[in-house]
Amino acid sequence: MGFQVYKFGGASVQNAEGVKNLVKVLEQTQVEDLVIVISAMGKMTNALEDVVAAYFEASLKTDTIETVEAFHHNIALELFENPAAPVFKKIQALLEELKGFLQRNKSPDYNFVYDQVVIYGELLSTTIVNAFLEKEGYRTTWHDVRDYIKTDTHYREGKVNWEVTMRNLSRKVPKKGIQLTQGFIASDPNGFSTTLGREGSDYTAAIIAYCLNAERVTIWKDVPGVLSADPRYFENATLLNFISYQEAIELAFYGASVIHPKTLQPLQRKEIPLFVKSFLNPQEAGTQVSVGNLIEPLVPCYIRKTNQVLIALSSLDFSFMAEDNISEIFKLLGTYKMKVDLIQNSAISFSVCVDNKYKNLDALVAKLRADFKVTVHENVSLYTLRHATEEALKSLEKDKKILLKQVMQNTVQLLTV
Ligand code: ADP
Ligand code: ASP
Ligand code: MG
Repeated sequence: MGFQVYKFGGASVQNAEGVKNLVKVLEQTQVEDLVIVISAMGKMTNALEDVVAAYFEASLKTDTIETVEAFHHNIALELFENPAAPVFKKIQALLEELKGFLQRNKSPDYNFVYDQVVIYGELLSTTIVNAFLEKEGYRTTWHDVRDYIKTDTHYREGKVNWEVTMRNLSRKVPKKGIQLTQGFIASDPNGFSTTLGREGSDYTAAIIAYCLNAERVTIWKDVPGVLSADPRYFENATLLNFISYQEAIELAFYGASVIHPKTLQPLQRKEIPLFVKSFLNPQEAGTQVSVGNLIEPLVPCYIRKTNQVLIALSSLDFSFMAEDNISEIFKLLGTYKMKVDLIQNSAISFSVCVDNKYKNLDALVAKLRADFKVTVHENVSLYTLRHATEEALKSLEKDKKILLKQVMQNTVQLLTV
């Protein structure tokens, strides 16, 4: 077997049992030459986001760092039993480093501080998992991925410098043995930490696979593979055995959160197959994403995005919503980092559904109100149905109040309240 990349997400290492299960996956799959990419444990990125929020709202009295500390300490205690094990010193050193940063920092830039803080989730998880693998007799090498994956200074959504990253990875990461590293994190040209966007560890796996010409990538999940719908919200979701890159890009783009949308294009470029498999049943086939036709089986696929915002705009005077207006609107959407999910326009109105990911809605709306009549619907849900059939659409529309519907070739989108 050739050289491969595995990615274990937060759910797979959310507790000591999960870390032990990771070892089982390695035992059962017997891959010898491997880069293992690991995310922060469980919901630790959210917990670290709370640390950042508390830091900026000095009035907010919290024990946020203690939460992060206790969580990792407890997992390590379960895994290593002996509190004198060297891993505890390493955990402590990382937490001291984090506290030291917060004490010394003078930057008022929220996004910059965010990245310098949240990276500790991945540094801690990989430190613990690496020590546990060593305890279990594996010979692994721990790498700080920030030394290799380089981005610009776009904090919280770093843009990869492929040339430098490729050079670093191919020079410094051997394609033999087990290499273990972090997902999601990277660094800028000055050596400050950056991140690739929430849920970005899948993307890290793809970056590494692309740069090192891996034979395949496997992302280990708490589901049997990619299903025709998120099983948390839809009954009777079907396992998709095969998905073409193109179809997977569409599904991820519309919000099928099982694969990070940026993951697929680097893999497609080099035709590196992606497998999505269950970390509880590693022997099962899961889903293969590679070159080929659409999906197998060909069934309607449902995607749900909640907490979206519909902004409807019309002009204050009698002018039409035309190119100059619309280009101004898009410029503002870009400035306020709104992710656009859907747009619809007519002669006198322009509607846009956005994901208020960075909580800039109020500022954007205030700005838009200077030039437009603005109506805002918050908390709307966006449903996307791919490979729609009449029956599937009917059942999706049932009992929903539909604000907007858009029908494209084999894809239907509904905005509902
Ligand atoms: P990770 O542990 O790698 O972060 P995620 O939680 O991001 O894993 O992704 C797995 C989750 O994605 C599943 O638990 C499932 O609820 C959700 N999901 C959303 N859409 C789909 C889909 N189409 N197929 C399978 N899972 C999906
Ligand atoms: N830990 C990061 C997050 O929760 C990255 C990832 O899990 O992929 O967003
Ligand atoms: Mg995730």
